[in-house]
Amino acid sequence: MFADVAFPISGFQTFTYKIPKDLVSEVQIGSRVTVQFGPRKTQGIVTGLKNESSFSGKIKDIAGLVDNLPIMTPELWKLIQWMSQYYVTPLGQVGKAVLPKNLSTRYNPPKSWMVQAKPIFDDEDLEAVKKRAPKQYEVYQKIWKVKKPIQVSSLKDLASNPLNVCRGLEKRKLVTLFEETSLPDITGFTFDPIHKKVSFNSHQQVAVDAICKSLDKKEYSPFLLHGVTGSGKTEIYVEGVRHCLAQKRTAIILLPEISLTPQIAGRFRAVFGDTIALWHSKLTQAQRSWTWKEICKGTFKVVIGARSAVFAPLKHLGLIVIDEEQESSFRQDSPAPRYHARDVALMRATYEGASVVLSSATPSLESYYNYLHKKLSYLHLPERYGGAKYPHVHLVDMLSDQEESGKYGQIFSGLLQDKIEDRLNKKEQIILLQNRRGYSPVIRCGDCGEIVMCPQCKVALTFHSKGSQLICHFCGHIEIKQRETCIHCRCSNMKYSGTGTQRVESILEETFPQARVARLDMDTAGTSQGLISILKAFANGEIDILLGTQMIAKGLDFPNATLVGIINADLGLHLPDFRSGERIFQLIYQASGRAGRRKIPGEVVIQTYVPDNPVIKNAAKLDMIKYYNIALSERNELKYPPFSWMAKIEITGENQIAVDSLSERISKLLNGKYKGLDVLGPAPCYLEKLRNQYRFQIVFKSLKSIDPNGYRLHKFIQDNFMDIQKKYRPGKNRINIHFDPLSLI
Ligand SMILES: [Zn+2]
Ligand SMILES: [Zn+2]
Repeated sequence: MFADVAFPISGFQTFTYKIPKDLVSEVQIGSRVTVQFGPRKTQGIVTGLKNESSFSGKIKDIAGLVDNLPIMTPELWKLIQWMSQYYVTPLGQVGKAVLPKNLSTRYNPPKSWMVQAKPIFDDEDLEAVKKRAPKQYEVYQKIWKVKKPIQVSSLKDLASNPLNVCRGLEKRKLVTLFEETSLPDITGFTFDPIHKKVSFNSHQQVAVDAICKSLDKKEYSPFLLHGVTGSGKTEIYVEGVRHCLAQKRTAIILLPEISLTPQIAGRFRAVFGDTIALWHSKLTQAQRSWTWKEICKGTFKVVIGARSAVFAPLKHLGLIVIDEEQESSFRQDSPAPRYHARDVALMRATYEGASVVLSSATPSLESYYNYLHKKLSYLHLPERYGGAKYPHVHLVDMLSDQEESGKYGQIFSGLLQDKIEDRLNKKEQIILLQNRRGYSPVIRCGDCGEIVMCPQCKVALTFHSKGSQLICHFCGHIEIKQRETCIHCRCSNMKYSGTGTQRVESILEETFPQARVARLDMDTAGTSQGLISILKAFANGEIDILLGTQMIAKGLDFPNATLVGIINADLGLHLPDFRSGERIFQLIYQASGRAGRRKIPGEVVIQTYVPDNPVIKNAAKLDMIKYYNIALSERNELKYPPFSWMAKIEITGENQIAVDSLSERISKLLNGKYKGLDVLGPAPCYLEKLRNQYRFQIVFKSLKSIDPNGYRLHKFIQDNFMDIQKKYRPGKNRINIHFDPLSLI
C-alpha cells in the first residue's frame, strides 16, 4: 500500500510514501504521519491511498502516525482541492486557512470541581452535622437547595476553602464531588442558555417537514429559507439539527458574526448542551487545535461559528445552516483564499450528501435568483411568530419636512421626534439606526473647500468627540489634536459636517434629557464584552434608546422595542458599486424588523432626502419582491452577477506610476479573450489609496448565456494569472485575484 502525503504549509504538493505493514490498518485519508522529507523528518497529511505507485525511484516508508485518529475527512480534503481550483489559490494557502496553525499543542481545557447533594435517608445524621460542623451544614443547605450540580467555587462566599468543606461533606456521604471540564466557550459573551417552549405555526411546520424529509434522503438538497423578520427561523434550525443528530449525523450552523447573534448560540446551548462546539476568532491557538481534535474524535456533533466554521472536520455531516446568508462577512477578502463561505458550504454539502439551509429575511440577490431558477428549494415563512404584526412604516421626506418647519439641517424630523417622545412616555423602547460612527465624518475648510484627509489613504478623516481625535476608519490613523487651521489656505474656518452616531447621541441627550441612551458601534462595542453588556442592559429595560450603526440591525429580539428610527436612510446609497442598492435595502428592511416583535405593534420612521428612489420607496413598503425584481433587471441590463460570472484583479503598490503601468501591461498581455467576456479597466479603484497602497483593478464579466457554469472565465483567469511572477514581473507590487468579488470599491 502507498500513501500520497501533503505538507500543509509548504505547498500541498503530494509525495508518495510506502505504508509499512504494521500501519496499513491504521493509516487513512486525513491521518497525520511522520516521514523523512529531504534531510529532515517532518509531518504531513495523507491525502490519498493506492495499491500501486508509478514512481520508479526508491519510495520511502512512512515512519509513524502522529495522532491516533485522522484530523481531516476525505470530503474536507476534496473541498480544499476544489477551493484551490475555484479561487485560483495554491493548495498550501487554502490548507493554511482550513487547518489550525499548530495541531500538536498539548492543550487540555481546565477542570473545575462540581458538587451535588445526595438524597438523605436519616434526619439524625443531618442534625449531628448541624451540631458538630455548623459550617458544613450551612454549605450543605445551599448545595441541597440548588438540586443540581454546582461549581464548588461558587460557594466561596460561605467558606474560604469551599473544596475542603465539600470534602468533609463527601466523607459523611452527603454529597458527590466530581471534576468537570470547562470547555472553551464564549461564555460571558453568549447569553445564558435560553429555554423555551415552542409550538409551530403551519408555515414553520412545512419548513421543518421539508428539511427533515431531505435529511432522510441523505442527498445534497439546498434550500432558501425566506422568513420575514421575527418569523422564528432559529427554532427551525433547532428541529433540523435535532433530526440530523437522531440520524447519527452532524451539523454546522454558520452565523455572520457570533458575537452579534448571541441569542442563537444561547438557544442552541440550551437544547443541545455540551455536544456543541463554538468556533470563533476569540479562541486561542491552543483552544482551536484542541477543539479541532475533539471534533475529529466525535465529542462535538454540532459546530456553531463564523465563516471558517464551514471547515469544521465533522464526520457524517448532514446539515449546514447559514443564517443571514446575505451578510458580507461570509466573504473573506484577505488573505487568500478569497472565498465565500456560502458557496463553499454548498460545495461541501454536495460532497457530503448533506442538506443546506440558506436563511434570511432579505436573501442575497444571487440566492433569490437561484431560487427563481430552481437551484434552491424555497421555504417561506410569511408570518411573524406568535401572531406579531408587521410594523407600520412612515417615510419622511426630509427636504419637504424642513421646508415646512423652516428648520434646516435638523437631524430629527418632527414626526420622529414626536414618536420618540411618545414611546418614552409609554415606557417602551426605541432603536435608532445611523450607519456611520464618530461625530462628524467630514471636516472641510469653509474658505477653500479642502477636506482633511488621512495621510495614508485617500479618505476623509472622521472627527470623534471622545478624546477630540481625527480617525481614519480604514487604516486606523489617529491625529490627537483637532485641526484648527486649514493646511491649504491657513484660514481657521473649519466646518465639521455630516452626522455620526456620537453627534446623534449628543443631540438625543439635549433633546430628551430624561432618556437613558446607549450607543452601539465599533467604538463602544468593539469587544464582545462591551457588546453583550449593552445588549443585556437594553434587554433588561435599563436603556430607553439604543442608538447604533448597522450592528443594531442584526438578529436581535427585544420584545419591548416598538419604535425603530432610521435617521438617514440614504447613507451609502450612492456608492459606485453594483451592490450598494441591495445592501441599503437589506439594512433598512432588517432594521425595520426590530420593531414590535411581540404583542404591541411596532412603528418605523425612515428619514430620507430621496423618497422616490426605488431602494428607499420599496424598503419603506417592506416590498422585497418588487425591489428585487427591479434590481435584477438592472443587473441584467448591465451584465452584473447573477447574470454573469465576475472576477476582479486588484493591483496594488506604493508607487502610483508603477501600479498604473503594471496594470496597463497586464491588460495588454491578456490573451484568450472571448465573445461574451467584458473587460473593464484597468482603472483606479473608487478607494484609490488605502494604507499607503495605490489600488487599480481590472474587472472581468463573463455572460452566463455564453458561459453557464463559469468554466470559460475560470480557464481565462487560470491561463492568465496562474504564473503571475513570471508573466508580469510585479516586483514590489501585488496582484490579487478575486473570484465572485462582493464589491468593486
Ligand atoms: Zn482652506
Ligand atoms: Zn487611513
